[in-house]
Amino acid sequence: MTHPHVDIVIVGSGIAGLSTFLYLSESEEFKDGKLSICMMAKSTVETTNTTWAQGGIAAVHAMGDDFEKHIEDTMVAGAHLNERHVVKKVVEAAPALLNDLIRWGTCFDKNAANDYDLAKEGGHSEARIWHAEDQTGHAIQSALVEHVFESAHAKVLDNTLLVDAIKDSNGQFHLHLYDESENRFFEVTTSKLVLATGGAGMLYSKTTNQHVATGDGIFIAKKLGATIENLSYIQFHPTGLFHDGNIAFLVSEALRGAGAVLRNQHGEAFMHQYDERLDLAPRDIVSRAIHAEMRKHGDACVFLDATHLSPAMIDQHFPAIKERCKALLNIDITKEIIPVVPVQHYSCGGIKVDAFGETGVPGLYAIGEVASTGLHGANRLASNSLLEAIAFAKFATEKLLDLPDAEQAVPVSFKKECFGIDRNLIQHLLSQHAGIIKNTKGLKAALSALQNLQSNAPVVEFNPYDHTSGVLLEVGIMLIEDALKQEKNRGVFFNEDLVNDLVP
Ligand SMILES: Cc1cc2nc3c(=O)[nH]c(=O)nc-3n(C[C@H](O)[C@H](O)[C@H](O)COP(=O)(O)OP(=O)(O)OC[C@H]3O[C@@H](n4cnc5c(N)ncnc54)[C@H](O)[C@@H]3O)c2cc1C
Repeated sequence: MTHPHVDIVIVGSGIAGLSTFLYLSESEEFKDGKLSICMMAKSTVETTNTTWAQGGIAAVHAMGDDFEKHIEDTMVAGAHLNERHVVKKVVEAAPALLNDLIRWGTCFDKNAANDYDLAKEGGHSEARIWHAEDQTGHAIQSALVEHVFESAHAKVLDNTLLVDAIKDSNGQFHLHLYDESENRFFEVTTSKLVLATGGAGMLYSKTTNQHVATGDGIFIAKKLGATIENLSYIQFHPTGLFHDGNIAFLVSEALRGAGAVLRNQHGEAFMHQYDERLDLAPRDIVSRAIHAEMRKHGDACVFLDATHLSPAMIDQHFPAIKERCKALLNIDITKEIIPVVPVQHYSCGGIKVDAFGETGVPGLYAIGEVASTGLHGANRLASNSLLEAIAFAKFATEKLLDLPDAEQAVPVSFKKECFGIDRNLIQHLLSQHAGIIKNTKGLKAALSALQNLQSNAPVVEFNPYDHTSGVLLEVGIMLIEDALKQEKNRGVFFNEDLVNDLVP
């Protein structure tokens, strides 16, 4: 049986998938109808981490700022494990990429002088964060989605889950897809497969991520033979809003950029004990400092104090944070302090790619949070991830357009197995043993418990939830194996049994 063939399939509808689609759609091949592209999302097109991004996207623009400073800030945050040539390439491309976002309809905030209003975030030596209030991701997502749908030949599938992929002997990718709305499987073949599937936050009990972040791209790339690296470099955001023992919302770093101060339960500012950059130290340092304060005093959270800031400024720049704190906790942040705790936020590692988003498996690309490009090193600098996603979408375009001669697809068969796995247990084990502070005994115990879970999982009828729990289990095992291989504490990675390398 032959299946529909698409030249390029993009899996994911966040900034990585959307901007890859848009750059490709500007090619002559696409405009002439000679190139077929399909983009898919396993939930609605808008259900992405991109939609939830708050603070903004980094690019040099202000007087006094320059590329060298942005490069240096990125390298310092990444504990110099970043690949400098990649950092340079992305940072230098950033201003033109911001113009592309604006060209595609994104509106960034402007100041009274009618220039872009740039914010400063942790780890940045200058104000270079372009934003749309505190809902930048939503502004980008909706503008790009609208632009994609304006394209006459746009083929976009929502509620379509990539379950598995096999590469046949003629180099064609066979995609095993599940249409959730119609409860049916179908197959598509493609010459080029772009994984833009985002992060894996659902590995943890408390995460800022959307429910779609289950590490699917990592699981599939590994099966296709790509290299996965630094999975244990998980960034914890210092300030998740703490509500009823849970994380209700992310309180953007930009609030600290605007002057908000972290305080412990006694009302004391504490960051001066941990880093000279105080509340604007890189996220790994702030998260560990909060963790240490909580442990020292046996407290469940710390507080972010914005009460000394101008209420008018808060209304103008942080309306969503103000509104959510009021709605969830009945807190007026201009008068009351905000309870916060560190929370899983971002996967710095992932599918290893070169400077064009190529994985080393011919025809397979990874773009966005799912990829490990060398930009972030051991810790992502705030607001560099939206930038990385659009940058690699652009860098990959030329290579993607270089399509091989059409080869006949060779039939393959997919195993349609699905297992019933306790997702809560996976999340508990990862949160307990692969969190901000790890130790070798805990990592080994978690690995053995996860392997046990894998060996004893009962077969169940296919359903997306159990399928993705199975993916989380595989990715969780990979993450812990990666953590056990680490020999030094660097950036976001901290095992208390290892020699303390770069931590204050
Ligand atoms: C609350 C929050 C705030 C943030 N703030 C910022 C910020 O201010 N600045 C910044 O730079 N970064 C920020 N980040 C990080 C940034 O938003 C993400 O890294 C970035 O948006 C990831 O984009 P992406 O396109 O790679 O993935 P996503 O936007 O997460 O999109 C993933 C897509 O893949 C699809 N998908 C996944 N698996 C499958 C599958 N098996 N089959 C089909 N489709 C699939 C999903 O449906 C979705 O469409 C924030 C993140 C969060 C969660």
